[in-house]
Amino acid sequence: MLMQGCIMSPEAKPAALLVLNAGSSSLKFAVFAVTGGGLTQRYDGQMEGIGAAPRFTLRDAAGAKLAERSFAEAEAPKGHEGALGIILEALTPLLHGASIRAIGHRVVHGGRDLSAPVLITDAIMARFRALVPLAPLHQPHNLAGIEAAARHFPGVAQIACFDTAFHRTQSHAAAAFALPPRFYDQGILRYGFHGLSYEYIARRLAAEDGTLGRARLIVAHLGNGASLCAIAGGQSRATTMGFTALDGVPMGTRSGQLDPGVVLHMLDSLQMKSKDITHLLYHDSGLKGMSGVSQDVRAIEAAGTEAAEAALDHFAFRVRREIGALAASIGGIDALVFTAGIGENAHGVRARICAGLGFLGINLDPEANAANRPEIGRAGGPVRVLIRHTDEEAMIAEHALELISAA
Ligand code: ADP
Repeated sequence: MLMQGCIMSPEAKPAALLVLNAGSSSLKFAVFAVTGGGLTQRYDGQMEGIGAAPRFTLRDAAGAKLAERSFAEAEAPKGHEGALGIILEALTPLLHGASIRAIGHRVVHGGRDLSAPVLITDAIMARFRALVPLAPLHQPHNLAGIEAAARHFPGVAQIACFDTAFHRTQSHAAAAFALPPRFYDQGILRYGFHGLSYEYIARRLAAEDGTLGRARLIVAHLGNGASLCAIAGGQSRATTMGFTALDGVPMGTRSGQLDPGVVLHMLDSLQMKSKDITHLLYHDSGLKGMSGVSQDVRAIEAAGTEAAEAALDHFAFRVRREIGALAASIGGIDALVFTAGIGENAHGVRARICAGLGFLGINLDPEANAANRPEIGRAGGPVRVLIRHTDEEAMIAEHALELISAA
């Protein structure tokens, strides 16, 4: 199944850092060598389609595939725990005795108090469990990944990095709901998500060009989960997701923002059960629900039906509307950055979103956009329009190294 390789020569007893990023139906991983205080990525990959048709991929640092495997139904790994077993089985010979210094985990929800990466203890795990109702699609998988890793690597430091942490710089005005303050005090507020992705993009842009580090950025993280964030001076000022990862723009299967009156109507007049509404809003809405085709933009574009067109148009309309709103929240925009699966690849969707944003100074160069180039705005325009690859695993690894180095 695997081609052989190793992280470094076994004699050197190298140190490595493992990152696990458990999504709803995927478990992404990355292995970094710790060299002279820095990090070098060695391997990455994922198990996709967990619970349906799992597919395992392992790549080296240059992106070359070292292993790829689909599973017959009978041998398919069970859940995230089974997926981790397959991943570790594949990585063990490659690690060649390297000592795992730490395991960094993406944990979607850190609540109000966990605003920086933490070393995981039993007490911290109990706090994570209490946050499960706020992120039911993700948090249980994140926790399963931590438990499985703890069993496999007893005594190794495990570090949690939160999708919510980057947004803790937002003002009360941006984070509050217009409810009596006792609800805010109970933790009912806008947390925001995709923070590791935004932090990664903000840090990389600042490293690339100092003016971008100080600029007013709107980053559109458009993947299966989708949100946008207004960043000024490298800090989150406003974002589209809120109390849960259900708010904001429509997503692959999630509705995004909904008049809360719709939910009350479903409960009271349509007599729907809350668990059915939850399933509808998390799994059967968004691009999939509207198009009736798929959650995948490629399949929706190929379908070309009226419902498919309506779904793409609505998605683009809502993202465009949020770009306008976020620009207002930070007094303008210097750069618009697209990232994640749709943001990085779906040029047709980017073109739909940007159509009509000329009033904000956002104008696409159609050729650059069609080619998914890093710079897709019209040359000399007032607002730069960029495509950047996001790397949540690299962000987690940086945080984990910072934390264990400080210990
Ligand atoms: P996740 O939130 O699960 O990490 P991704 O960021 O990988 O999701 O985004 C996955 C989505 O990106 C797919 O469902 C699909 O809609 C879109 N996508 C990926 N590649 C392409 C492509 N080449 N063209 C159009 N859309 C794409």
